[in-house]
Amino acid sequence: MPKQQVLHCTFCGRRRDEVKILIAGQDGHICENCVEHAQEIILQELGTLPSETRPANNNAQKFTIRKPVEIKKFLDEYVIGQNDAKKTLAVAVYNHYKRISQKVENDVEIEKSNIVMVGETGTGKTLLAKSIARMLNVPFAIVDATVFTEAGYVGEDVESMLTRLLQACNYDVAAAERGIVYIDEIDKIARKNDNPSITRDVSGEGVQQGLLKLLEGSEVLVPPQGGRKHPEQKLIKVNTQNILFICGGAFDGIDRIIARRVNTNTIGFNVNKELQEYQHDNLLQFVNAVDLKHFGLIPELLGRLPVVTYLNPLDAKTLRSILTEPKNALIKQFTKLFEIEGIELHFEPRVFDFMVEKALEYKLGARGLRSICESILTDAMYELPSEKEKRFEVTYEYAQRKFVNSKLSMLKVA
Ligand code: ADP
Repeated sequence: MPKQQVLHCTFCGRRRDEVKILIAGQDGHICENCVEHAQEIILQELGTLPSETRPANNNAQKFTIRKPVEIKKFLDEYVIGQNDAKKTLAVAVYNHYKRISQKVENDVEIEKSNIVMVGETGTGKTLLAKSIARMLNVPFAIVDATVFTEAGYVGEDVESMLTRLLQACNYDVAAAERGIVYIDEIDKIARKNDNPSITRDVSGEGVQQGLLKLLEGSEVLVPPQGGRKHPEQKLIKVNTQNILFICGGAFDGIDRIIARRVNTNTIGFNVNKELQEYQHDNLLQFVNAVDLKHFGLIPELLGRLPVVTYLNPLDAKTLRSILTEPKNALIKQFTKLFEIEGIELHFEPRVFDFMVEKALEYKLGARGLRSICESILTDAMYELPSEKEKRFEVTYEYAQRKFVNSKLSMLKVA
């Protein structure tokens, strides 16, 4: 019997019964696996060719490294307050990119300055990381530490965070290799107590172990589509040596650990609430790697995250500034939306205080300011485009009325 009767993929040689689809060409066949591979190769080649043809060190030269003072000034345009975090970040980022542009022959090798930010949710951690990436114009990816598990378990491998980075720059490997990854909720992968675990901790300590090699800088094989569903996909080699990792987390309860260390007792019958709160706000500024270790981050990981900084909780004054001051402040965004419609939008200043008051009262934080604005302005945005008015004033009474009638007002936390 002639051999060609058994159909097979001309590329990988698999027989018809070994594949799901076999597409016929003029002189041969191709299976679905090889089509997938071919597509990945095309993506990779198209994405990386221009940068790979550049001399290696040229990438670094492209950077105009801003001085720390300028970096902070840039951050000031987008993020309100958080001066300590901004300064620490500015210096870390400055050093990091100075390190990248360092000539290879230089014998002093500067270590990476990966960063951990500790601060309540909604205080601007992601915004800071995002703003830094925007300033540097480098690829940026936000990942959530809680989705990862140790290799081999249900969940994502840590390498898939680099997939996001590659996707953010259209698979330009050279660009990704000097990008920034923001790992959110790093506190959620803390091990449950300070002692090494006896049982397996696949989503905690296991993930921390997995992060080590990424953080310190090594060549990692990254699945271009992420996940583990395509075991045969062609892996892309990414060197993480110049990737800056910024981690963030709320680290709930770390104030007690810090208190214990600095010998301040925050719990007690005679301590009044105001003093306790004052201490809580202030304690975070003393956070260091030892506290993070007690919280459950392993020492090896902390060794690769040498810069530790903190963010303050947002008070009324800061929330008020967040509403109106940043370059893309909420109020500026809404004003622009109305402007596009040909309508001048004005607010009675008391309205801003009202919004802040509600954000605090309903414990919504800075994120809640947007929903409050929406609840007050939705009716106007619905009706005004069909009317002739060219000016709209949001008075205190109007804001109050719209808010009370909104669904948001039912959310009050006791
Ligand atoms: P986190 O990462 O700390 O949970 P985010 O950075 O995602 O918080 O902040 C949520 C939103 O709140 C941001 O999109 C931003 O609009 C606003 N916000 C929070 N903190 C600040 C700040 N300090 N300055 C300006 N906006 C802020």
